[in-house]
Amino acid sequence: MLTEDWKKLYNFGMKSSDEKQIVTGRFAPTPSGRMHLGNIFTAMIAYLNAKSQKGRCLLRIEDLDKLRCPLSSAAEIIDDLKWFGFSFDGEIEYQSKRTSVYERETEKLEKAGLVYPCYCSRAQLHAATAPHGETPVYDGRCRFLKKEDRPLKSPCLRVIVPDETIAFTDGIMGEYKQNLKKECGDFIIRRSDGVYAYQLAVVADDALQNVTEVVRGRDLISSAPRQIYLFRTLGYKPPRFLHVPLITDANGERLSKREGKSNLEYIRSAFPSPEPVIGMLAYNAGLIEKFAPVTLNRLIDVYDVSKISKKDIALNPCGLF
Ligand code: GLU
Repeated sequence: MLTEDWKKLYNFGMKSSDEKQIVTGRFAPTPSGRMHLGNIFTAMIAYLNAKSQKGRCLLRIEDLDKLRCPLSSAAEIIDDLKWFGFSFDGEIEYQSKRTSVYERETEKLEKAGLVYPCYCSRAQLHAATAPHGETPVYDGRCRFLKKEDRPLKSPCLRVIVPDETIAFTDGIMGEYKQNLKKECGDFIIRRSDGVYAYQLAVVADDALQNVTEVVRGRDLISSAPRQIYLFRTLGYKPPRFLHVPLITDANGERLSKREGKSNLEYIRSAFPSPEPVIGMLAYNAGLIEKFAPVTLNRLIDVYDVSKISKKDIALNPCGLF
């Protein structure tokens, strides 16, 4: 029965593959603090990737988790992006204002019998998950929990995944695949505190905002198969994915929001204009052969995705700091 539901949902509302759609990218920061140069690098690729195809690039603030996202951070992010010369299309969307959208998409999954409440505590989860790489795999134990055995506490919601390998070709990283059941397990779409999970919200938003190209850090590539599954199951065509390498310091450590010179507070106090910094990032991305100050818009014509490396990039500051 479940399989029939799946089939129906997989094909529901699919857009025909030859339907011409305007290329739409997006940058979707979580406002949990001030951005750093790694975030600007990702934003730059997302922006140039869309604009070089004469497309649109949206800005979406992923502030689902109000406790982690102080109000001031979103404003700071918007101001920093403006300073660098980004000019996003359409209205800025805030996930915190889109709960009803996530409710509707969750109902679709519920109607298909694909959602169950999970009451596992942290300790139980520890026992119920086997690590697979970095992602723990949930064994699905609450799926068969009888109603009378449900504890008196609010559950999270999980979506049932099939024993199926989802494969796709990433625009930068190349072939990638994951067996959802063996490498991930039924995953959370709403937390026990009622906050919708990233996986559900990002798919609902990308689908309803007609995003055709998802460009983001390569640390999120393992989420793409879960998202492709949700796109299909909810009746939407999955976008193209491009996962960009991470920017590291000279020791190969990922840049952090707090770290001194890659922090935008430092950058903005040290540089009167963004051109040298954009030039340095473009040089690190392989988009220009020699370092030179440049505006973001000047890079639209030289953007070439094949120049971007698959490997993480140890930031070369080009003598700027
Ligand atoms: N909000 C996520 C982040 O800041 C990015 C999500 C995405 O691009 O899909 O890491």
